[in-house]
Amino acid sequence: MTDTVRIFDTTLRDGEQSPGCSMNLAEKLTLARQLERLGVDVIEAGFPIASDGDFESVRAIAREIRGASVCGLARTGQADVERAGQALEGAARPRIHTFIATSDIHLEHKLRMSRERVLEEVDRAVRQALSYCDDVEFSAEDATRSDWDYLVRVFTVALDAGARTLNVPDTVGYTTPDEMAALFRHLKAHIPGIERAVLSTHCHDDLGLAVANSLAAVRAGARQVECTVNGIGERAGNTAMEEVVMAIRTRPDVYAGIATRIHTEEIYPSSRLLSSIIGVAVQPNKAVVGANAFAHEAGIHQDGVLKAAITYEIMTPRSIGRPSNELVLGKHSGRHAFRDRLAELGFALEGDEFERAFKRFKDLADKKKSIFNEDLEAIVADAVLQTDERFHFQQLTVLSGSFPMPTATVELLIDGQPRKTTATGVGPVDAIFKAVTELTETKSELVRYQVNAITAGLDAQGEVAVTLSEGGRRVIGHGAHYDVLVASAKAYIHALNKLEWHKKRHQVAEPKGV
Ligand code: MN
Repeated sequence: MTDTVRIFDTTLRDGEQSPGCSMNLAEKLTLARQLERLGVDVIEAGFPIASDGDFESVRAIAREIRGASVCGLARTGQADVERAGQALEGAARPRIHTFIATSDIHLEHKLRMSRERVLEEVDRAVRQALSYCDDVEFSAEDATRSDWDYLVRVFTVALDAGARTLNVPDTVGYTTPDEMAALFRHLKAHIPGIERAVLSTHCHDDLGLAVANSLAAVRAGARQVECTVNGIGERAGNTAMEEVVMAIRTRPDVYAGIATRIHTEEIYPSSRLLSSIIGVAVQPNKAVVGANAFAHEAGIHQDGVLKAAITYEIMTPRSIGRPSNELVLGKHSGRHAFRDRLAELGFALEGDEFERAFKRFKDLADKKKSIFNEDLEAIVADAVLQTDERFHFQQLTVLSGSFPMPTATVELLIDGQPRKTTATGVGPVDAIFKAVTELTETKSELVRYQVNAITAGLDAQGEVAVTLSEGGRRVIGHGAHYDVLVASAKAYIHALNKLEWHKKRHQVAEPKGV
């Protein structure tokens, strides 16, 4: 008998609320479809009361996703739970996740509530949530800094009110593996009727212990792990999904009788898709999904791996869906080969999206001999994920060299209308950005400009990430092209489109979750 550890993915909620990781509706839907293919049990799609944009995203994902539970976050307030319930209408398997802080630190300084009052809130919120759906999760925010006996009382109230998942968040990333395991054993031993609920863990990586703490919780009885793709999330991030899943899979001797339902060969496509959406690369030495995670550099290691991979490889790149970086397509490849290759990389494109990507591929194949998987991922990011555009790139001409005043002429479609202007700058990128700023009449501040080669070789595509800031909001725009100046223009325009999208949402102060 195998015991299932449920994977609760909060990339679209806890991950999305971290700086530089915001996504628009189209991007969230694209990622949710990939999470469904990955086989996560629960997709936490957002915090519906936080903003209209969050509400709409949860609603759209709830209506479309059928292969996973779709969850909305809510504080215990009546309006929060109601909004979550409304956003989840139409979901195949809706879940409301309600939470309140339980540590004395939070009770005193944030909630200004007594312990007894918090118990009443928990009972009321869980019952209200059950009027919208059968599946209710309760979280005790800052659980790891809460009094253990009080936690037992809180979870007992939630369980008796009907919650069937009890989540123990290490909200501030403070606990250690031994302490976490002891806490789970304490809860299992002291909550009457605990066998009717699933215990869950939600960890943050402030001390680099999120994955270790989550796995310690699993060993002590947790059967749901809350996590994110690439470990994105508040501050130092959340538990990295790919690390927990591969640890459980690679060490069946340690995690005996325990398995997740994740299709591990979708791990790498999920990681790459998220990176391309938010424009945040994974560190090269990141476990499982980093660029160097399977690169054997030392001669003695290379020799061993060539003789038998098992000498230095504890898991195979194939098991996480990492394609070998061979030449994949060229200019003679047709629609069919292109579609197949995209499918292997985890991208299922249809209709206009597919046609845009295919045209972009043909253009690139004309200019560049070898099209690698990373090139295809950039094409998909470029063609698919930028549908919500107010500003659309058309043409760019740049004059630059060892003479003063580099000059850029930029043509854009703005709200569908063609616009064109010429500007000069201290360098070609400066000239391009000035021309775009003039055309779009925007007032953002350039925080960071970063260029990377996507693949090796002189004809490699350039990938540019541009960080802009306006009114306290930071966004990252992303552009790829074999001409790094065109990539720069596209990245800048992508960032401006993201800022426009945020302005449209009319956000006030957004509450944040566990
Ligand atoms: Mn969190």
